[in-house]
Amino acid sequence: MSIQKNLHNILQSIPEGVKLIAVTKTHSIETIMEVYNCGHKIFGENKVQELVSKHKLLPNDIEWHFIGHLQSNKVKYIAPFISLIHSVDSIKLLVEIDKQANKNNRIIDVLLEFHIAEEESKHGLKKEDIKEIFESELFQKLNNVRIIGVMCMATFTNDEQTIRKEFKELKYIFDFIKHKYFNLQYFKEISMGMSNDYEIAIEEGATIIRIGSNIFGSR
Ligand SMILES: *Cc1c(COP(=O)(O)O)cnc(C)c1O
Repeated sequence: MSIQKNLHNILQSIPEGVKLIAVTKTHSIETIMEVYNCGHKIFGENKVQELVSKHKLLPNDIEWHFIGHLQSNKVKYIAPFISLIHSVDSIKLLVEIDKQANKNNRIIDVLLEFHIAEEESKHGLKKEDIKEIFESELFQKLNNVRIIGVMCMATFTNDEQTIRKEFKELKYIFDFIKHKYFNLQYFKEISMGMSNDYEIAIEEGATIIRIGSNIFGSR
């Protein structure tokens, strides 16, 4: 099937209000332009260097999302243009994003990434870190970074029960934070669901899904 058709089918199948990030990692400028030319302009990348070079070459009305593990020393390269950083996993990174956002005279939206999956390899915060972050003095001083929600990656498995349980856990964490620290309108995003599990994610409350292979084919 063509990229256009894939994109169309996914957009048709997701409820209004769920935002689709087309994950463009490893794909060429020409391939990405096929999606752009369909009118879809929300893209995600997981490596800073690849994102920066694609940002330079592609039209500037694209909304870029950073979805990979982010090192503090690389925040400065994406701070001028990034729309949403999905993968904040430490207070140190939050402080650096705040600093770089301030330098660029803007506010950067971020999500807190939680480690819920069974795999050790996945990054993210633990439930126990929530209190430490939100009640820290450093946190109180952040003016240019805005936490608008949470993110996770489920275990890579075909076992639907495991995946569903993990998405429920992220929804629970979201509700907990919202209730305890953030009864604010802007704290509203739950980024979960990829090609193999986005339908389950939507059933469990995802507001943002991140899809690569189902649009572009396997990498
Ligand atoms: C690659 C990637 C995706 C998309 O994965 P697909 O299985 O190709 O849909 C989503 N989220 C993150 C964090 C990724 O790195």
